[in-house]
Amino acid sequence: MKLLVTGGAGYIGSVVAHQLVAAGHEVEILDDLSTGFATNLPAAAVFHHTSIHRVAEILTPDADFDGVLHFAAKVEVAESVRDPEKYWHHNIEGSLALLRAIRTARTPRLIFSSTGSMYSGDGRTAFDEAAEIRPANPYAATKATVDMMIAGECGTGTLGAASLRYFNAAGAVRTAETYLGERHEPETHLIPILLQAAGGQRDTFTLFGTDHPTTDGTCVRDYVHVSDLAAAHLLALEALSPGRYEVFNLGNGDGYSNRQVLDTVREVTGRDFPVYDADRRPGDPAVCIANSDKAAVELGWKPQRPNLSDIVADAWEFHRTVHGIAG
Ligand code: UDP
Repeated sequence: MKLLVTGGAGYIGSVVAHQLVAAGHEVEILDDLSTGFATNLPAAAVFHHTSIHRVAEILTPDADFDGVLHFAAKVEVAESVRDPEKYWHHNIEGSLALLRAIRTARTPRLIFSSTGSMYSGDGRTAFDEAAEIRPANPYAATKATVDMMIAGECGTGTLGAASLRYFNAAGAVRTAETYLGERHEPETHLIPILLQAAGGQRDTFTLFGTDHPTTDGTCVRDYVHVSDLAAAHLLALEALSPGRYEVFNLGNGDGYSNRQVLDTVREVTGRDFPVYDADRRPGDPAVCIANSDKAAVELGWKPQRPNLSDIVADAWEFHRTVHGIAG
């Protein structure tokens, strides 16, 4: 298939782009490189260095794309609380520009990078696709909104689409060409921040929220390896049918508290660092765990690297390589 990957220089998008190339697809990538890295791009992909707002210049009727995988978005919860407009602009208006281009070009397939963090519940039950949607921050609100926009678009006839609601992506992937891992500037995500503390790139680690209604008081998340997430995109692409919209939750179904992740990082790296307890981070839901039965049954998705220690070990190996830290 001829496929456009928006945000293909970013963390998850680049891993998907490499898997698509390896599977024999013809891949073009749109990315503004505001947060992604040119070094993440597969050599075989055509690269368009531009903004998602200008996607119609690439996704033209003549270009004849068979599908789009849409990752281009702002992804920081705390930033979205501070600056919601940025999220409306990039995530909602950017996706609207894409949907308009898809409509004009009559592109038949769309896979959207969505989030499991839009669900809300009692913290005891894992979230399936029917769980209540109550976004706790503007970032999650944009993903829920775009999901609804895509569902509406599919209702008009030809487009077949799937939203993949990721839980917490983590880990890294080494390809023949490059090494793909999580690195945002500034970094806000738990595992890379813990690895920075372990690797000496930061002096301390701040633990946000120790009074959540969980066993040890810290937030619980479901970490899923980025290579397993990526594999689900290729499966979903094959499963799409015209006029239908599907949602799939993607996680391992295991919850780890922030303290458990901290302990795993200490164990895997063999390094320790000072930890400071702080107030809750605004917009953080207490518990977020996936029920991915639908992806297992309908897509045949089976994570190959579900163990948290393995996920952290892969992320650590990547972190050491990027920062030149000896083993
Ligand atoms: N977290 C933390 N300290 C940090 C960064 C994150 O305690 O320096 C916590 C954060 O408050 C949340 C969890 O780690 O409870 C996961 O946050 P992350 O941003 O990695 O992912 P999210 O679940 O928000 O998408």
